[in-house]
Amino acid sequence: MILEKYSFGIGDRFARQGKALLQAVIDAKKRGVSIAPVCNKSHREHTITKTEPADVRAEADGAVKALGWNDSYYVDADHINLDNVDMFIDSSDFFTIDVADLIGHPADEKGITTFTNRCSKYLGSLTIPNIDRTFDVTEEQIRAVARQFLSAVKKAGQIYRHIEAAKGADNFVTEISMDEADRPQTPLELFLILAAIADEDIPAQTIAPKFTGRFNKGVDYIGDIDKFAKEFEQDLAVIDFAISEFSLPENLKLSVHSGSDKFSIYPAINKALKKFDAGLHIKTAGTTWLEELAALAVAGTDGLSIAKQIYYQALSRFDELCAPYASVIDIDKDKLPAPEVVDKWSGEEFASRLCHDQSSSNYNPHLRQLLHVAYKIAAEMGNDFLNALEKYQDVVSPNVTENIYKRHIRPIFME
Ligand SMILES: [Zn+2]
Repeated sequence: MILEKYSFGIGDRFARQGKALLQAVIDAKKRGVSIAPVCNKSHREHTITKTEPADVRAEADGAVKALGWNDSYYVDADHINLDNVDMFIDSSDFFTIDVADLIGHPADEKGITTFTNRCSKYLGSLTIPNIDRTFDVTEEQIRAVARQFLSAVKKAGQIYRHIEAAKGADNFVTEISMDEADRPQTPLELFLILAAIADEDIPAQTIAPKFTGRFNKGVDYIGDIDKFAKEFEQDLAVIDFAISEFSLPENLKLSVHSGSDKFSIYPAINKALKKFDAGLHIKTAGTTWLEELAALAVAGTDGLSIAKQIYYQALSRFDELCAPYASVIDIDKDKLPAPEVVDKWSGEEFASRLCHDQSSSNYNPHLRQLLHVAYKIAAEMGNDFLNALEKYQDVVSPNVTENIYKRHIRPIFME
């Protein structure tokens, strides 16, 4: 199974927007840009919404059939580890193996020495094609990378072989993710990590490093955009070089776990992809559920009432909802409007606080981040929420399609 040059990870907490999401990819294809859709849902999301990987498979298959999509599509077991991979085996054909937790775990000294010797040809002044600087590589540096990352990569190998044994090597796509690490990986670290991945014989087709800057959930990038752009381009160059040096899969590409809506770095990504003629996998639609919520708020008084109820409960259960996402949200509680204030809002007012329009003075990133992690409450509402989505599907689904096509696909892959 060979993943296409461009692929797009789309999330859908409540499995009601499969067609609307696929439509965005169809719209891109009509304009000449082929993107493979990848439906992703993590173990964490399944736990919170009480769904199963088979639900994502059914949604994807259903949407593909309904819209007559004849190209490839995938179902991603997002951020899995050895403890939960088994429940994803039957339904998924894309596995995001998350080994960030193992970063910094001690590796055995013998393995570190073997790896260091194996990389000794890169000692001294290392030139990587298309990077306009050289890297001074010391033995101590290689050892330090081995100490930091070798356990994680070995674990990835173990998980990969577990999936391979169950599914057969040619029947799935492998991604290695280290994006939920404490600090970003440098391009040189990425190069050495790829060496270790090759040593483990993992046919990784995508790799998700942690990039410089903050990638908070559902809101824009916070950080130095020029620094990100430089790092991103160097990572692309590193991947090209690593493919030839380590005989990794020809289609190996970067995966950006964006946490959704990193609009301000899209131009830099777009420019770099063109410059390097590179592929990309990007996960970015965890906010589908916020599009649903915004649409409900304006669709009718019952929809608005649901949106407000979810916000009130989110306020009172702040710590519980934020805990699983603590490292990827920054919410200033003082900027969260009180229920008495929200109670007076019209649907348009509610939506204007929530919707990610940074040119609007109403937009409130604190409220948006809180609601982003509040999907648990909508899940608990069960049919009250799902029936409202159904009732107002005509308002909801154009929002979902337009958001993905105009605000994500177009700036990243087209324009
Ligand atoms: Zn991630």
